[in-house]
Amino acid sequence: MSNLQDRVAIVTGGGRGIGGATARRLAAAGARVYVADKDGAAAAENAARILDAGGSAVAAAVDVSEHDQYAAMVENAAAQWGRLDIIVNNAYGRHEPDGSALTVTDSAFDYGLTIMAKTILWSARYGVPHLRAHGHGSIVNIASVHGFLYAPGSLVYETGKAAVIAMTKQMAIDLGPLGVRVNAICPGHIVTERQAEHWQKNPSHHKMLEQNYPLRHTGTPDDIAHAINFLSTDEARFITGHIMVVDGGMTVQLQENFGNHMGHFMRAHPDTQLPPQQLDF
Ligand code: NAD
Repeated sequence: MSNLQDRVAIVTGGGRGIGGATARRLAAAGARVYVADKDGAAAAENAARILDAGGSAVAAAVDVSEHDQYAAMVENAAAQWGRLDIIVNNAYGRHEPDGSALTVTDSAFDYGLTIMAKTILWSARYGVPHLRAHGHGSIVNIASVHGFLYAPGSLVYETGKAAVIAMTKQMAIDLGPLGVRVNAICPGHIVTERQAEHWQKNPSHHKMLEQNYPLRHTGTPDDIAHAINFLSTDEARFITGHIMVVDGGMTVQLQENFGNHMGHFMRAHPDTQLPPQQLDF
């Protein structure tokens, strides 16, 4: 478990959800973790959890969509422990609804592209001088299956996550010669604290959603945290520019067989309630 001993990591959106589990996982592997979240209380709570478990962490209230706050986060994390080896670009949130090209506002588009893509640019600009210093630099960007498959009414999210994938590959090319690896993870549906609340109220919807997955269940934050941890260690030292899909096999299915399975499932479980056509939470 201790293959990140002495390494220093930043996890954005590290207060809860996938970022929360990732901060705890990297700390369990020995990393000192800078838990950065817009919600300073959530960051503090998660850092306290890490300390209680015997790990090393510092919490910071950071809005990563603000350039100056992102830059300061990198400098503060590096100053805290005298080095920086890992940046996990995970934070995501929005102020306005997503929509189609006919409905999204310019501000929703600009904010979405900033939090999903521009933060990755900043992680290179401010992070690389530190990341390259000890020869173990790793950036892991959290994309989504929505980066390569498209859902209705999600123009901003799909565009942003596609940009995450493109930037990951492009940056791997430019930063590889500097000794910095850049990879991305594309999660399928992960039941975080936020989603759990929804599914607990609608268990039948969740049961139906699980049928989308060949493994017949959705994922947990730990499933993603383990993958991020692997990509951040030296065990992955020859892996860069890789887009790791962690989705229980959801996106490799042939559509016609999948549609057939859902039809049979519905017939066998006539009481199943369908989730809303647009899954958006
Ligand atoms: P979440 O909502 O559970 O947690 C997101 C965290 O980010 C929160 O603690 C929030 O306070 C923080 N945050 C939001 N805006 C921020 C900002 N501007 N600056 C700093 N922190 C901010 O989300 P999650 O489901 O764990 O998602 C994490 C990442 O995984 C996102 O990039 C998301 O797109 C991606 N993802 C999630 C799923 C899923 O099913 N949960 C699937 C695919 C991809």
